[in-house]
Amino acid sequence: MGKDAETHTFKSEARRVLEIVIHSLYSNKEIFLRELISNSSDAIDRRRFTALTNTELAPEGEYEIRLEADPEARTLTVWDNGVGMSRQEVIEDLGTIARSGTKAFVDELTKAEDGPDGQSSLEALIGQFGVGFYASFMVADEVTVLTRKAGQEQATRWHSTGDGSFQVSEGEREEAGTEVVLHLKEADPDNGMDDFTSEHVLRSIVKKYSDFVTYPIKLKVTRTETVSGETGEEAADAGEQEDGQEKKTEKVQVWETVNSMKAIWTRPQSEVLSTEYNEFYKHISRDWTDPLHVITLRAEGTFEYSALLFVPGRAPFDLFQYDSPYGLQLYVNRVLIKENADELLPQYLRFVKGVVDSPDLSLNVSRELLQQDRHVSLIRKRVVRKILDELATLQTDDSEKYLEFWTNFGKALKEGVSTDHDNLDRIKPLLLFQSSHHDSKLTSLSEYLDRMGEDQEAIYYITGDNREAVERSPHLEAFHKEGIEVLYLTDPVDEILVNVMSEFEGKELRSVGKGAVDLGSSEEKKDDTDGEEAEKEHSALFEALKSALEEHVKEVRLSSRLTESPACLVGDEHDMSAHMAQLLKQAGQDVPVPKRILELNPDHALFEKLKSIHEDSDENPLFADYAQLLLGQALLAEGSPLPDPVGFGKRVIDLMLR
Ligand code: ADP
Ligand code: MG
Repeated sequence: MGKDAETHTFKSEARRVLEIVIHSLYSNKEIFLRELISNSSDAIDRRRFTALTNTELAPEGEYEIRLEADPEARTLTVWDNGVGMSRQEVIEDLGTIARSGTKAFVDELTKAEDGPDGQSSLEALIGQFGVGFYASFMVADEVTVLTRKAGQEQATRWHSTGDGSFQVSEGEREEAGTEVVLHLKEADPDNGMDDFTSEHVLRSIVKKYSDFVTYPIKLKVTRTETVSGETGEEAADAGEQEDGQEKKTEKVQVWETVNSMKAIWTRPQSEVLSTEYNEFYKHISRDWTDPLHVITLRAEGTFEYSALLFVPGRAPFDLFQYDSPYGLQLYVNRVLIKENADELLPQYLRFVKGVVDSPDLSLNVSRELLQQDRHVSLIRKRVVRKILDELATLQTDDSEKYLEFWTNFGKALKEGVSTDHDNLDRIKPLLLFQSSHHDSKLTSLSEYLDRMGEDQEAIYYITGDNREAVERSPHLEAFHKEGIEVLYLTDPVDEILVNVMSEFEGKELRSVGKGAVDLGSSEEKKDDTDGEEAEKEHSALFEALKSALEEHVKEVRLSSRLTESPACLVGDEHDMSAHMAQLLKQAGQDVPVPKRILELNPDHALFEKLKSIHEDSDENPLFADYAQLLLGQALLAEGSPLPDPVGFGKRVIDLMLR
């Protein structure tokens, strides 16, 4: 160990990840190189960005990444002239898991280890989360990092065998940047452990995973060159006699650039292989799953920019952690300006990954002022529309894929209904809901419209905790009987959604639990006058019920929505729904549940029973009990909690004993 050496232990979660990586049978070992190249490319991005304002930090030569293998010593070195790391950064960045997903990853690890599939689900996790720098230990039994931070003189050496600790000491490096030296394990091609010192192997891995990297990736290769006799000063391997002229061949080592270096977003979509897009996506997203959908966008003219966007194939664990960074990568003429430019995406589209590059933005655009930049907001507007339009196309062209998208990101997209009024008409058709029409299939609003009868006035919905709860709600009885489709809105955000979204293509969205129900068949409309008569006839009963339940009920009336149940509770058009009140309560906001309307089913036997008790005598104590029981069962039937469960239980028992 060199001067000023220290031994550190890996932070516990890093140690666990390392252990798993080292012992894993994960067969796709070659991805370690992608991770190291990706880190080098990130580091060069960073150096290049800081050098924009501090030119002294730029390297003398070109930015580049070098790969050098030594088959005898069985080492592979990945070298870059990126931003490098200070001693402190080395200790932190390589001794802990830097990424924000650490906690979730380690949680998942624990679950997987304890789970029934043990090892095999651990392997899957490595694939899902990616292990970054630690992937080195899948192929190496010893890793040395030598790094020097741009702007500093002192270099640092880091060394570990992956056994729980690492050593840090002072080192020497001529220029800023980093080199990672892997001491490779024995080759074992059957288990994914190819010979990573082989030129051919390295070349194909770079091509496969890192071709899009915009800096040259140079591989040190040995070439046999023919040299003329005079320059044979250096040691020549062989001499040949040909046509009487002396020719010598010589082994020379040259750096050969193995990637095409073309920024992938500048290439026409038709010329890019989907595997190339996939690898690029993995590079920028740190997701290891292929994206579900690729979107390209190009604007030409006075203000130019291009965008390459991805809809991921699965939801990240932190989709609903609203403080997680999100946004697109913003480049100005291939120079990365901002990693998570959330100025370019509204939060409800936070799942979209990708890059935007514009030669017309100022390189010096302050990161803080991006938000106010007129061009940036122009790009954002266009990007949002493009994403929504692409989703619409996906929905019509490939409903299966769209469903996959919806399952992963539908909940986030729904937030757009209340936050992006400008695009409301684009978002509405993208929404999918459960419905009484299908057992499990989801429906869009236009499909609902297509199915509904001509004289149906509104799109009906019910909100609740889950399908089972809403399906049996008494509010739906008449709808079921009439064969009228009802949407089941069972996401908590749906309550907010229907508050904002009052109509779709001119049809009102109406809750089955609010207002008067008029299912609109002409026969029933004729009944309306009879209804008024009936109301009058029963007014004394209604008044008595109302005063018995005055804490909870503001009105009692006859129902046109019940066919089976004796009673139900409904709200006025603009009242907060009982489900919403419940959700707010769960969220710690204690709002008073608004008084509601008790609707009675005149065709139910209980109606007559109530009437006779009431007529018998106002003072009959039985009447008050019946009123409470009626209210209680109406609440239970719609899935609401009882205000006084103990009292309810007692009344039931009394009734049983009677
Ligand atoms: P991630 O790249 O997702 O942050 P890694 O495990 O790949 O995670 O790398 C951890 C950290 O180590 C990086 O974030 C970076 O700060 C640092 N790092 C790794 N390789 C390099 C490099 N070649 N140059 C500079 N910093 C590096
Ligand atoms: Mg990385």
